[in-house]
Amino acid sequence: MSIYDKYEAVIGLECHIQLLTRTKMYSSDIAEYGGMPNTHVSVVTLGHPGTLPVVNERAIEFAVRLGIAVNANIREENQFARKNYFYADLPKGYQITQDKTPICTGGYITAKLKDGSEKQVNLTRIHMEEDAGKSLHDIDPFETLVDLNRAGTPLLEIVTEPDLRTGEEAYAYLTEVRKLVRYLDICDGNMEEGSLRCDANISVMLKGSKVFGKKVEVKNMNSFRNVQRAIDFEIKRQIDIIEGGGTIAGETRSYDAVNDKTFALRSKESANDYRYFPEPDLQPVFVTQDYIAKVKSTLPTLPNDLFKTYTATYKLSEYDAHQIIESKEVAAYYNELLKHTSNYKSAANWLIGPIRSYLNDRALAFHDFKLAPAKVAEIIALIDSGKVSNSAAVQSVFPEIIDNPSKTAEQIATEMDLIQNSNSGDLQNLVNEALSKFPEKISEYKNGKVGLLGMFVGEAMKLSKGKADPKVLNQLVKETLEK
Ligand code: ADP
Ligand code: MG
Repeated sequence: MSIYDKYEAVIGLECHIQLLTRTKMYSSDIAEYGGMPNTHVSVVTLGHPGTLPVVNERAIEFAVRLGIAVNANIREENQFARKNYFYADLPKGYQITQDKTPICTGGYITAKLKDGSEKQVNLTRIHMEEDAGKSLHDIDPFETLVDLNRAGTPLLEIVTEPDLRTGEEAYAYLTEVRKLVRYLDICDGNMEEGSLRCDANISVMLKGSKVFGKKVEVKNMNSFRNVQRAIDFEIKRQIDIIEGGGTIAGETRSYDAVNDKTFALRSKESANDYRYFPEPDLQPVFVTQDYIAKVKSTLPTLPNDLFKTYTATYKLSEYDAHQIIESKEVAAYYNELLKHTSNYKSAANWLIGPIRSYLNDRALAFHDFKLAPAKVAEIIALIDSGKVSNSAAVQSVFPEIIDNPSKTAEQIATEMDLIQNSNSGDLQNLVNEALSKFPEKISEYKNGKVGLLGMFVGEAMKLSKGKADPKVLNQLVKETLEK
């Protein structure tokens, strides 16, 4: 047993998601990624004295959407709070956030692990706040530049209970968060652009202990994979310190992706005192039960519910169901496809197989796939009717119909001369012709070399120019040989 097996890690995550509202959290400035620096900045964003914030109603709606989706308690009376600190990209000198009264408390997100098991991750709270601007250290060699476009952008912070135990669980949880916020249309979930950010709190303790160890907070991971790596590194680092007789210092660390390690940023002992107090410029926001019901009626079917329908009603395997619900767009396409075919399994196979490969080969995203679901259903029907073999449909009809969507699948198959010959009279001639080429092999087959069957079938298939139904052909060759 290695020393690492004696310990158990405890992990809690704090995620910030940037909301897809048109305007900022407390002003009418545009909340959009990628504009020219300092172009989405009014006097409110710039923190000029005498300006007043106004709450973005849409951001409240988004918080409620998420709260409903994770089964949280949604607070009726929402107070905002000032969190005071000085930062070059925070012109007001404080952030308007929520302190004692987060809009959501409790709830959970279910993460799916690689081994197929599920892990329920309980949530402590979700609160609303605004983002700071961006300090750019790598553009000018001598100065730090400040872009305030992001200042005031609406955020939700999602804080978990210390329920996670491994880097892999954290990865699975984040994957679920991203999927959920995308289904809910509240955040694009793009970690590279910073619209989903995550800090990890990590401690270790002896297995079976009830007392958590001192936690370290790790920041600056820019991908889910890096969150997992940072956690794995940190667990090992902490165990090494304890095994070496040391103690863990409560501190904030940063992840260095290049060297796959964490390094100390600042100690918790010198942590800021933010002097939170109720924001005097904003009235409390009231969220009524009626309002919650109204928002609830606009929610899409969520991935977990889709998963249940796909496996229970459509009898898809869990694997297939996961592949399809992975992205809201793919699930929507699948649902659309099922309006045109009742071959649920085949519809799923087309999405997971040929359609995905087609897009991957061309480095395209799913929204670039323009073929209507009805056309894919035509191909499925053509295969199911036995008119075209699956491989001819995948290799020939499918790419052709993408370029010529005004034609039917059957027209294309006919034009490409792919309609299968399952008329056994015609096929018999082909089989006879194929067999007549190999008189000696036939006697070998009859003397027990049954492995030759494939060769005879292959030859007959060649003569049919690939159009024969492989099953029928196989049967016919066998019968003919055994006559
Ligand atoms: P702080 O006051 O330092 O912000 P919180 O109690 O608010 O700490 O917790 C912040 C995050 O850290 C939460 O996600 C929580 O689950 C997690 N956490 C708390 N204690 C521990 C611990 N001992 N080990 C790992 N994570 C922890
Ligand atoms: Mg805290």
